[in-house]
Amino acid sequence: MIDDAIRVLAGDCTVIAEADDRSEYRGRVTTIVKPDNTVLVHDIDGYQPVAWLTRADSVSSDRAGDFTLVAKKDTQTLRIAAHEQDGFAHYPASAAGTPVGTCQNENCDGELVRSKGVHCVDCGTRYGIPTDATIKDDQSYCDCGLPRMRVERGLAFDVCLDRNCESLDEAVREAFDREWDCPESNCDGDLRILRRGGLIAGCEHYPECDTGFAMPAGVVDGECGCGLPTFETHGGTRCLDATCDRAVARHVEAASDD
Ligand SMILES: [Zn+2]
Ligand SMILES: [Zn+2]
Ligand SMILES: [Zn+2]
Ligand SMILES: [Zn+2]
Repeated sequence: MIDDAIRVLAGDCTVIAEADDRSEYRGRVTTIVKPDNTVLVHDIDGYQPVAWLTRADSVSSDRAGDFTLVAKKDTQTLRIAAHEQDGFAHYPASAAGTPVGTCQNENCDGELVRSKGVHCVDCGTRYGIPTDATIKDDQSYCDCGLPRMRVERGLAFDVCLDRNCESLDEAVREAFDREWDCPESNCDGDLRILRRGGLIAGCEHYPECDTGFAMPAGVVDGECGCGLPTFETHGGTRCLDATCDRAVARHVEAASDD
């Protein structure tokens, strides 16, 4: 069920790398072709390939007679021709990531790992999660068996990895829907919690009033001079309105008091 494969070719090869200049190598090497068309030619020594092409535009191979492989990217070309082939194989491949739990799909007990999202190494099931979500070893587990992730959107929410099981949007809506007033002076609207791309706090009178703010990754720690809440984030305290400078101004004032 994992469609991605890494191709491996091993043997006595001539390797020709052409860009502005031309280098030629010959040796018993192992060539690795990744699903993103990155080609790495390894010899006996060190971690660095003798020749490589990162994310080539095209990789073509010809197995009639002696094996040849040609990778091209812009003005660069990498040619590998086997004089004697020791092995050629495809292996299933996935992203590698930090282990976070066990797959809960029926008939699967594969490891769940986190790279960009979370995926099962065995069956390939994926859960998209916010990039700032944290999944710790001591994180609680959902009734469904999946680990929960912690996501800060005004408060720290612990929700299941599977959004169909426990919804982060739902939790944030429960906590903050209509919690803040629209800061527009001629508008009496409340800010609703909505998803437009990401989670936003947007005026209920949209489209007449198009005031809306992306929910910051952080927890509410006070009120800004403008009336909106302030959030404690990795980058420091900021107003819900990213363009508001009064949160910063007030912070500097507070600091100069002591
Ligand atoms: Zn699985
Ligand atoms: Zn769950
Ligand atoms: Zn409004
Ligand atoms: Zn403000």
